[in-house]
Amino acid sequence: MNALRHQLIAAFGPSLRQGEPLAPRTWMRVGGPAEFLIETGRPEQVVAAHAICRCLGAPFFLLGGGSNVLVDDEGLAGLTVIYRDGALRWQPEKGLVTADAGVALERLVEAVSARGWGDLTFAAGIPGTVGGALAGGAGAYGRLLVETVCTARVLRPDGSVADLPVQALGVRYRDSDLLQRGEIVLDITFGGFQPEDAAALSARIGAIKRERAGKHPPPELPCAGSFFKNLPPPNPGAQRVAAGLILDRCGAKEMHSGGAAVFERHANIIVNAGGATAADILSLARRMADRVQARYGIRLEPEVRYLSNKPIKSVIVRDPA
Ligand SMILES: Cc1cc2nc3c(=O)[nH]c(=O)nc-3n(C[C@H](O)[C@H](O)[C@H](O)COP(=O)(O)OP(=O)(O)OC[C@H]3O[C@@H](n4cnc5c(N)ncnc54)[C@H](O)[C@@H]3O)c2cc1C
Repeated sequence: MNALRHQLIAAFGPSLRQGEPLAPRTWMRVGGPAEFLIETGRPEQVVAAHAICRCLGAPFFLLGGGSNVLVDDEGLAGLTVIYRDGALRWQPEKGLVTADAGVALERLVEAVSARGWGDLTFAAGIPGTVGGALAGGAGAYGRLLVETVCTARVLRPDGSVADLPVQALGVRYRDSDLLQRGEIVLDITFGGFQPEDAAALSARIGAIKRERAGKHPPPELPCAGSFFKNLPPPNPGAQRVAAGLILDRCGAKEMHSGGAAVFERHANIIVNAGGATAADILSLARRMADRVQARYGIRLEPEVRYLSNKPIKSVIVRDPA
C-alpha cells in the first residue's frame, strides 16, 4: 500500500486522510475506518483517484451521501472516495439542468422547484446525492428519479468517460445496470419539466417532508431507510407489495440483534438503537429474511448496499439449502 499512499499524497496532498472512521459519514452510523479517504465535490478528482487505484490494482470504494450503505466493521482497505457536493449548471432556454453527481438530491429538488419547473417534488426528503439516487434506482410515491434524467456522464471501470443517454443506464426500481457494471456517475442532465407555480411546488415539498418525518425514525435512531426492496407486483399494472407489510405479518417489529433493532413503527427499517455493529445489522437482516422465507417462501432482497473488502457483496447470504 506504500505506492498507493505515495501517489495519493502526490495527487491530493493534505486533503488525503488515513484511518478516518466511516461510521459518522454514513446514516447507519456503523462500520470501521477507511484506510485512505478523500472527500470531494469535484468530478475530476473522482476520475484522478480512480485512475490511481486502477493502475495499482488497489481497492476503490465510492460513497455519496452514505444513506443507503452498510460499511463493514473492519472498515475499508484501499481508497474510499466520498463524492458529496458539487455544482448545478443551468440551460434555462432548453429547460435543462446538469448536476454534479455529488449534489444533494434535496438541493436539486428545491432549486428546480424554485424555478417553477415541475415536478420533482416526489423526491423531496430522500437523503443522499443525485449520483447515489440515480445509480440506486431511488424514488418515492411510485416514481423514480430516472424519469427526469436525459443523459449522464459516467466513469467506466477501464477509466474511460462516456456521455450516456438515459436508456443506456438501465435504471430500474432500486437497481441499475450502471451500478452492476461498476460505473461511477460524474454528472447528470435533467430535463422534461413542465411549468408549474413555484409556490405550489414549494408547498408540496413541505407537505411531503412533513409526511415523511412522521414515518421515519428520529435522528437518535440512525437508519438507512427501507432495508429490503418491495416485492414485484403480483400482476401487471398492480403496485409492488410492501416488504414492510410482509415483515410485519411475520412479527418482525419485535426483532433485534445486539444494538440493531427493527423500528417499532415500520417493519422494513432497521435502526441502530445504540452501539450497533455491522455484524449486528447483518445478523438481524438475515433472520428477518429467513422468517419471511420460512412463512411465505419468498427471499427478500436487500436494498441497502454492503461495502466490504470481503468477497461477499450482499448483505444477506442465503441459507445453505
Ligand atoms: C431516512 C431515509 C429515508 C430514505 N427514503 C428513501 C426513499 O424514499 N426512496 C429511496 O429510493 N431511497 C430512500 N432512502 C435510501 C437512500 O437515501 C437512497 O437510496 C439514496 O438515493 C442513496 O444516495 P446516497 O448518495 O446516500 O448513496 P450512498 O448510500 O452513498 O451509496 C449507495 C450506493 O450507490 C453508490 N453510489 C453513490 N454515489 C454514486 C455515484 N456517483 N455513481 C455511482 N454509484 C454511486 C455507492 O457506491 C453505493 O453502492 C432513504 C434513506 C434514509 C436514511
